[in-house]
Amino acid sequence: MRKKTATVWLMAGVTILSLSACNPQGKQDSSTHEQQDNQQEQQSSQDANKNKQTESQDQNDQSSESNEGQTVDKADQHQSNDNGMVTVAHPNDLQVLVNKSHKLPDGFVPKNLQYADVRFPYDEKVQKRKVRKVTSDALKQLFQAADNKGIQLFAQSGYRSYERQETVFASNVDRYGEKKASQVSAHPGTSEHQSGLAMDITSRAVDFKLIQAFGDTEAGRWVAKHAHEFGFIVRYPKGKQDITGYEYEPWHLRYVGKDAATKIYKKDWALEEYKRNE
Ligand SMILES: [Zn+2]
Repeated sequence: MRKKTATVWLMAGVTILSLSACNPQGKQDSSTHEQQDNQQEQQSSQDANKNKQTESQDQNDQSSESNEGQTVDKADQHQSNDNGMVTVAHPNDLQVLVNKSHKLPDGFVPKNLQYADVRFPYDEKVQKRKVRKVTSDALKQLFQAADNKGIQLFAQSGYRSYERQETVFASNVDRYGEKKASQVSAHPGTSEHQSGLAMDITSRAVDFKLIQAFGDTEAGRWVAKHAHEFGFIVRYPKGKQDITGYEYEPWHLRYVGKDAATKIYKKDWALEEYKRNE
């Protein structure tokens, strides 16, 4: 009996490991995801008034943006709940660890969300264009530096709200039941996109898709080599799936600040290893 249970858990674990960090419903056909994304973005534009209120509050906070996140709390692991899931204690920290076992607080909205001031392959002013101000500023510099080398980067998907993750998860529970839903979609709060510190980037060469082939393009290679100079890391590196819980995602950039990013780049670490060793 025990052996059977263990096998089921092992299988569930393997399935979860193959989820993509960037698509709300895990790894499936990417065009399907984009369609789902767009449908949901239209819904989320109805929340525009709510967002505007948040933004005006954020503007009051902007002076603190330059100071925040400077202190690294080594122990984000404070409030442990059941299933071994940890709720991070300092969700606005620039080096906050968010993964399958570390979630952001329920309903958490990051500081200073704004539309990222960079190039996108679409015109709609949707939620996923947003990131924190600190991320937007750094992205702008990264994109400018790439432009100077004749490389056109495009941003694709940034902020994803807790509510949106909840909606996707809930619809999967309706469709498949709780157990299967946990396998095919991420638990609300575990997407790094909720932090406002992540942005998926892409290029024309891969038809603006979020695919591993991006890593082999001129843009992908340049980003892998230079992102740290602007405070970004490639969050899910090749060969680190056992540590990060996600397959190689050359498109998913995470802002951690220049010092941390440079250290992570030079040591060839994943963020999990940085947090453990730093
Ligand atoms: Zn992503």
